[in-house]
Amino acid sequence: LLDVDSIYKSYDEEEVLEDVSFGLDQQDVEVIVGPSGSGKSTLLRCMNRLTEIDSGEIYLNDDEIHDLDENELRRRVGMVFQGSNLFAHLTAQKNITLGLREVLGMPAAEAQAKAMEYLRQVGLEDQAESYPAELSGGQKQRVGIARALAMEPELILFDEPTSALDPELIGEVLTVMRDLAEEGMTMLVVTHEMDFARSVATRLMFLDDGRIVERGPPEQLFEDPREDRTEQFLGELA
Ligand code: ATP
Ligand code: MG
Repeated sequence: LLDVDSIYKSYDEEEVLEDVSFGLDQQDVEVIVGPSGSGKSTLLRCMNRLTEIDSGEIYLNDDEIHDLDENELRRRVGMVFQGSNLFAHLTAQKNITLGLREVLGMPAAEAQAKAMEYLRQVGLEDQAESYPAELSGGQKQRVGIARALAMEPELILFDEPTSALDPELIGEVLTVMRDLAEEGMTMLVVTHEMDFARSVATRLMFLDDGRIVERGPPEQLFEDPREDRTEQFLGELA
C-alpha cells in the first residue's frame, strides 16, 4: 500500500531524514518512536507532501505521490495532528463537510449524511452542531479523526494525536484509533503511548537521527531488540 524508497530530507545543512526506506501493507498499523528531533514528524509530513523530500520515491498503491496532484494526495492520505486544527468558526459537522464539498465536490445533503456517519463512528453524533470551543480536547481530536475518515483515505497519518490532551482524555482517542485498526484501516502513528504500541501496532519503527535504527513486531523490539540504542530508548519510555 505504501512503499518508501530511500528518501532524504535536509534543512539547510542539517540532514533530517537519511536513506529512509520502509513499506506498509494494507491494514498495517505502524507506530514510530524516537527522540525529539529524530525526524518523526518530518517523515509523516513527507507522506502527504506537507514537506517535500530532496530525493527518493514514495509510492501509494503504485502511484508515485509526486505524480499526483495535491488534492488527490490529501484525499488519499489523511492526517491527524497533535492539535485538532479544526476551524473555530465552523461546527463539528461543518468542519467535516467542508473538505467533502470542496475537495470531492460532494453535494451538500450527501456531505452532511457522510459527516454524521463518521461522527457516529467516533461517538460524537450528538455534538454535530457544537463549535470546537464547546468540545473537550478529546472530542476535538475525535472530530479531527472523523474528518480524516470522511475522505475515505487509503492511509491515515497520526502525529502525536494524544500528546496535547489531559491524561483523562487520552483513552477515548486511543479507543477510537484501536477500533479503526480493528476495522482494518492502514495507519502510520507517531505516539509515546507504549501500551497502544504493544497492543495495537503490527510493527514498531525506532527512528534516531533521521535513520531507521530498527523495525519489527513490537514484542520483538520491546523484549529482544537487536540494537543497544533501541533497548536504551524503549527502556526509558517503559
Ligand atoms: P518531536 O518528538 O519533538 O516532535 P520529531 O522527531 O517529530 O521531534 P521533527 O519535527 O521531524 O522531529 O524535526 C526533525 C529535525 O528537523 C529537527 O532538528 C528540527 O529542528 C528540524 N526541522 C523540522 N522542521 C523544520 C523546518 N520547517 N525548518 C527547519 N528545520 C526543521
Ligand atoms: Mg514531531
